Amino acid sequence: MNFIKNAKKFALDVLFPKFCFGCAKEGVFLCAPCEKDINDTINVQKCPVCSLRNFSGLVCPPCKKYTNLSRFLFAHSYKNPLARELIHAFKYQGIIELAQPLAGLMVRTVKNFEVPLRKTMLMAPIPLHPARLRSRGFNQSEMLASILAKEFELELVADNLFRRVHTSPQVECTGFKERRKNIEKAFAVKNPSELGGKRVLLIDDVSTSRATLDEAAGVLKEAGAISVWGIVVARG
Ligand SMILES: [Zn+2]
Ligand SMILES: [Zn+2]
Repeated sequence: MNFIKNAKKFALDVLFPKFCFGCAKEGVFLCAPCEKDINDTINVQKCPVCSLRNFSGLVCPPCKKYTNLSRFLFAHSYKNPLARELIHAFKYQGIIELAQPLAGLMVRTVKNFEVPLRKTMLMAPIPLHPARLRSRGFNQSEMLASILAKEFELELVADNLFRRVHTSPQVECTGFKERRKNIEKAFAVKNPSELGGKRVLLIDDVSTSRATLDEAAGVLKEAGAISVWGIVVARG
């Protein structure tokens, strides 16, 4: 079996050679030095509302009334070309082995900023609408969330929050207001009792305007969650 697996891997590697997205070296999609480089550039967080820099990811007190999130962490700016390219390749080209290094960036962020996780926290990915899930074949946020859940030994809840509306992609909307409108009432919860009294970590790959995270966090809180934090690979 192993021999067949290895032979298959060898054939695939010959037919579709991999190149590092960072330095174009052949053999892997992200080589160790490039992975180290991109990990080393994580050094500051910003309030998701007013963008004031901080080192905790916490929403500043005066901004709390504008968001359903109490903490927001991102590993990179979406302006970082390598981060953007990796997310793009993962999500749109379906290179799912990039889930590991991308989740690794989030793990590193949580550790770097000494985010106080509790064993009772739930890890929830931003869901895709079933139609989008069918066309993409996988939910990129769920893949990231499941790696994070394993790493931090938290419970993954991937089938409670769901999308009841098939919205147009947020990237096609401009500005917070339009994005907020596009995503409004898009989410619902199947089983509120699972969320009652819980702290939830919402996971997404990219947040451009925080509108999606904010909307989902609002629905989770209506269902009884006491606080919601958002963690993404890249902030737009
Ligand atoms: Zn490289
Ligand atoms: Zn603020």
